[in-house]
Amino acid sequence: MESSIKSKALELGFAACGIAKAEAVDDDTRAAYERWIAENRHGEMDYLARNMELRFDPTLLVPGCRSIIVTAMNYYPADHIPDDEWQIAYYAYGRDYHHVVKERLFQLLAYMDGLRREQGELPPYGEQRVFVDSAPVLERYWAVRAGLGWEGRNHLLIIPGMGSWFFLGLILTDLPLRPDIPLSSRCGTCHRCVDACPTGALTLRADVTTCLDARGCVSYLTIEQKSPISSGFSSRVGGRIYGCDSCQKACPWNRFATPTAEPAFRPSSALLGMRRHDWQALTPEAYSSLFSGSAVKRAKYDGLRRNIDAAAQSDEN
Ligand code: SF4
Ligand code: SF4
Repeated sequence: MESSIKSKALELGFAACGIAKAEAVDDDTRAAYERWIAENRHGEMDYLARNMELRFDPTLLVPGCRSIIVTAMNYYPADHIPDDEWQIAYYAYGRDYHHVVKERLFQLLAYMDGLRREQGELPPYGEQRVFVDSAPVLERYWAVRAGLGWEGRNHLLIIPGMGSWFFLGLILTDLPLRPDIPLSSRCGTCHRCVDACPTGALTLRADVTTCLDARGCVSYLTIEQKSPISSGFSSRVGGRIYGCDSCQKACPWNRFATPTAEPAFRPSSALLGMRRHDWQALTPEAYSSLFSGSAVKRAKYDGLRRNIDAAAQSDEN
């Protein structure tokens, strides 16, 4: 059944799929996450400090869950906004990934139910749920446990031979599936992501969980943080008006990246054609049209306007 599920995942457009045993996370991971929260490195993202017990044990989140299927979907775009223009993070170029990845996971789940019926197991089955960046689940930890790759110093999952431009999606299932073998980190002595970070949000620490101080990360400052971007950071945020890809662009493993074949993640010509004066003239109506169905809606018009104004200010200095 494991190989059938993985083959189906690839057929559905996922670039990788692996399986982990559902159980409590290991003690080191738990301690590192607790330290990260205690050091307040999560900033205003209070939800990351809630539901800790569920976060550390998926069998509490989905009772009866025995396996975690982890999938990765490529979003690396073939076409980019020119480097000398203000930037939007690649993951936000196309349709909101939550919807796209969830749709595919539900198709995979339906396929799994079909396999069970073929094998004579009749419903009702135990509780099964899909998660895409939407619940207290340590997604990268489970991706590593499922043998997909390792967590880099840039806090992202690195898939060997593919890189890090991937959305992760999880299915928690009551099926007792054979787990894959976790991979060890291959970051070695590299610290290019740390060097490339414009705000110093990444530091070299032994455990990757606490390397990132979200309070200084451009992704956090331009998307999650609701209060104004402090003057200490705004000049270093530069022309990044929604998210940041610097630590991914610097990563040598991303030389293996290939453009996504998923049409939903392709940027519109309107987005690729945006120039500074277009951003500055952006009205709420034009914003709604440009980002219809996009994850950029997370920042709302006022949030994006704040970032545009900060970028314009940074250009002047
Ligand atoms: S996303 Fe940007 S600001 Fe955040 S850690 Fe990576 S390079 Fe630094
Ligand atoms: S840039 Fe180097 S240290 Fe950072 S995630 Fe990539 S391989 Fe690891």
